[in-house]
Amino acid sequence: MDDRYDPQVIEAKWQQEWAARQLDRTDTDPQKPKFYALSMFPYPSGNLHMGHVRNYTITDVIARCRRMQGYRVLHPMGWDAFGLPAENAAIERGIHPRVWTQQNIAQMRQELQRLGLSYDWEREVTTCHPDYYRWTQWLFLEFFEAGLAYQKEAAVNWDPVDQTVLANEQVDSEGRSWRSGALVERRLLKQWFLKITAYAEELLNDLEQLTGWPERVKLMQANWIGKSSGAYLEFPIVGSDEKIAVFTTRPDTVYGVTYVVLAPEHPLTLKVTTSRRRKTVEAFIASVQQESELERTAGDRPKRGVATGGKALNPFTGEEIPIWIADYVLYEYGTGAVMGVPAHDERDFQFAKAHKLPIRQVIIPPDGKASTRLKAAYTEPGRLINSGPFDGMDSAAAKAAITEYAATRGWGREQVQYRLRDWLISRQRYWGVPIPIIHCPQCGAVPVPRSELPVLLPEEVEFTGRGPSPLAKLEAWRNVPCPKCGTPAQRETDTMDTFIDSSWYYFRYADARNSEAPFDPAAIKDWLPVDQYVGGIEHAILHLLYSRFFTKVLRDRGLVQVSEPFQRLLTQGMVQGRTYKNPRTGKYVIPSQIADLSQPTDPETGEPLEVVYEKMSKSKYNGVAPSEVIEKYGADTARMFILFKAPPEKDLEWDDADVEGQFRFLNRVWRLVQTFKANGGQLGQPLPTSLTKAEKDLRRAVHTAIKEISDDLEGDYQLNTAVAELMKLANALGSADCYTSGVYGEGIQTLLTLLAPFAPHLSEELWHQLGGTDSIHRQPWPKVDPTALIAEEMTVVIQVMGKTRGTIQVPAGASQAELEEAAKQSDLGQRYLAGKTIKKVIVVPGKLVNFVLAP
Ligand SMILES: [Zn+2]
Repeated sequence: MDDRYDPQVIEAKWQQEWAARQLDRTDTDPQKPKFYALSMFPYPSGNLHMGHVRNYTITDVIARCRRMQGYRVLHPMGWDAFGLPAENAAIERGIHPRVWTQQNIAQMRQELQRLGLSYDWEREVTTCHPDYYRWTQWLFLEFFEAGLAYQKEAAVNWDPVDQTVLANEQVDSEGRSWRSGALVERRLLKQWFLKITAYAEELLNDLEQLTGWPERVKLMQANWIGKSSGAYLEFPIVGSDEKIAVFTTRPDTVYGVTYVVLAPEHPLTLKVTTSRRRKTVEAFIASVQQESELERTAGDRPKRGVATGGKALNPFTGEEIPIWIADYVLYEYGTGAVMGVPAHDERDFQFAKAHKLPIRQVIIPPDGKASTRLKAAYTEPGRLINSGPFDGMDSAAAKAAITEYAATRGWGREQVQYRLRDWLISRQRYWGVPIPIIHCPQCGAVPVPRSELPVLLPEEVEFTGRGPSPLAKLEAWRNVPCPKCGTPAQRETDTMDTFIDSSWYYFRYADARNSEAPFDPAAIKDWLPVDQYVGGIEHAILHLLYSRFFTKVLRDRGLVQVSEPFQRLLTQGMVQGRTYKNPRTGKYVIPSQIADLSQPTDPETGEPLEVVYEKMSKSKYNGVAPSEVIEKYGADTARMFILFKAPPEKDLEWDDADVEGQFRFLNRVWRLVQTFKANGGQLGQPLPTSLTKAEKDLRRAVHTAIKEISDDLEGDYQLNTAVAELMKLANALGSADCYTSGVYGEGIQTLLTLLAPFAPHLSEELWHQLGGTDSIHRQPWPKVDPTALIAEEMTVVIQVMGKTRGTIQVPAGASQAELEEAAKQSDLGQRYLAGKTIKKVIVVPGKLVNFVLAP
C-alpha cells in the first residue's frame, strides 16, 4: 500500500486522526511562551475562494511552525456573519438570513477542514449568534456610558440601492457604495455615532509603535486621520454681534483674504443674506441639496457659489469683505466656513476668477518679486508682502507670529484639526446587532439593562428590501416600557454596522465560551496582542482602524491591558487568474469556448484576445475553485503551490503547470522515503563518529536548509523561498549516495520535520511509516548545528623542499596559520617532517604549503 502517493486517502485519514486526538486544541501550558496567529475571519458567503486559501494557509504555516518551536499557539477561526448579503438573499430567495448564513458556514467550515488548517474549533465565534452579539451590545453600552456613543441629526451617505446609510469609509473614491456600487446621496437623518475622533491623536501617534506593520498601511491610516496644524480665526459680521469662524493651515496669508465663504447649510447663511439676495441664495441652497458630497468637492468641476450681500470684517486689515456661499464648502467639515485667499490657494483662485473677486498677493517666492498679474495661485511658502507689521517675514515665522497676534487680540488661536469624522454606526437593516437602547419620552435614550441582554433579533419578520428596516415595522417588538420610569417607550430599531462585530472578535477568541462576560481580563492578558495578523490590504483603514479604536476604548474602560491589538500585520497579495479579454470590446471570454488557447481568438468575432492576469472573479471567468484543485492533487499540493508561487505580500498568478510541479515534488519526497525505508532506514538513527566527505556535504545541505527555512519563517515570512529550500534539500538527498548512513537518516527526518507546517498530511504519513508514534506536528523544530555549516573544504598541495608530496583537505577560508598547522598535523606532514627541523614555511593561501627544511 505504500507504493503510491495518494493524497485523498492520506489526507482524509489524518484529518480524522487529528480531530480524534484533538491535536489542534489550544495548548495552555503556562510554561511555554504564547503566540497568537490570526487570519481575518471571513464573511460566510458560500464557498471558499483562492484568496481565502492563500490567507489561511500563510497563517497556518506560521502557527504550525511556532508550535514546533515550543510556543503555545492560539490559532482560531470564526465568522463575520451579519451583513447585507444574507438579507439580500432573504429578499431575493425567501430564505431567512439566519438559515442562509448557517448553511454557508457549514459549507465553508467543511472546506477549511479539508485544507488541513490547524484551527482550534472549540473557540469558533459566530457574530450573529446571540451568545456573541449579547456582548457586542454589552460593549456598545460601555461606549454609551463613556459618552462615546451618541445620536445626532446628520447629513449622511445614503445608498439608494440598499436603502441604508453608509459610513464615510464605506464610500469609495468615486462616491460609490463599497457594497452595492450605487452612487451615494446625501440625506439628513438621526443616527448613532461612535466618537472615534476623541482618539484621533492617539490613533495617529501610536502608528509609530507598529513596527511590524507595512509602511503603506500606516501611511493610509495617517492620511485618513489627516491631522493638520493651523489657526482658528474669527471674522466679525458687519452689523451683527456674530462672527464667522474658519480654520486655516495658512494664517500667513490672512492679509490676502478678499472674501469669506459659508457652507450653504451653515446656520449663519440666512442671517447674513440681505433681502435683495434672499431669492437667489435660497434657490442656490435648494440646488446644492441635490448634489452628493463627491460632486460638491470634485476638483475638476466649476466652483459654484453666490454672494449673500452680507459683509464681514477682516480684523487684520480692517477691510469689509463680501460673504459668499459655495457648494464646495461642507458644513460637516471644520467650521463649515473658509476664508478666501485667491492669490495663494488654487481653488480660491478659480472661484475668484469665476466670480470676479479681488486677488491680492501677500506671499512672494523667497527671492522673487510680486507679479503685477498672477496667472495662477502661488501656494508655496515664501516671504510676506502687503501684510502690515509682518512684511518681510518668511511663511513659517509669520504663521506663528500672526496666530500669536490674533490670540492676544481675541481674534483666534492656534488649532489642530483632523480629517477623521465620528464613526456612523446606524444601519436601517435587519441582519445586524440591535442597538440596546430604549427611547423614552421622559428619560430620553435609556440603555437596556445589562441583565436583559441580549436584545434578541426577532425571527418572524418580513423582507421586502424597500423602505424602513423590518424591525421598524414590528410594532409588538418596538413597544416596551421604559426601563427607568415604566412609561410606554420604543426600542431603537437601527442595527449596528457589522464593522463593530469585527472590531472585538480577536478578544473573544481568547475566552470564546465565557457566558458571564465578553472575556475574562486574565485571558486577554494571557493572549493579547495578536502576534501575527494576516489579511487583505482592503482592510487597511476600515477594520484595522476601528479595531485599534475599540482596543483603546476598552483599555480606558479597564477591560483590556493592551493599547494596540495587532503586533505584526501581513497583508497578503491577490490571487490572479489567467484571463482572456477582447481588447476592443473589453469583454471577458470563457476559456472553454476558445478553440486554441495558445493563440486565443474571440469565438464570436474571431479577433485576437489579450491574455492578462487579473484578480480571480466569476465575471472574468478566470477563477479556480479550491475544491477542484484539492480533488485533483490534494490539499498539501494546493498549500505548497500557493506558498511557493510568490512572496506572501505580492500578487500571485495562478499557473496549472506550477501546481503540477508541486505535486511532483511531493511525489519525490514520497519516493525518497520509500527507498530509505526499503534500505532499512528509520527515525532516530545515530550519526557516525567521523564523517566522510559525502556525509559532510550532505549534512551541510541538511543544516543549511534548517537555517534558511528558520530564517524565512521570521520577519517578513518569505515562505516561497522556504519551499524552494525544501526542494533543494530533497534534491541533495536524492543525489547523495550515503543512504545507509546516519547522516542520511538525519536528512530524511529533517526534511519531513521542516515540511510538516507546509504539507502537514504527507509529512505526518511518512513520519508514521518510518516508525513515528506521536504526531510529527508535536516534534521540536530542528536546530542548526553550526559546525555542520562550515563551508566547502579545499584541496591544498603539500610540498617539502619544493617537491610535491601529496594533497590535504582543509576548510575553505582557513587562515595562513591554520593551513600551516593543518599541513604539519596531516598524515603527509607526519611522514615527511618527522625528525626534521623546519627552517621556513611558505604558504600560498588556498593553494599550497611548502616546508623548507634545515640541511
Ligand atoms: Zn423613562
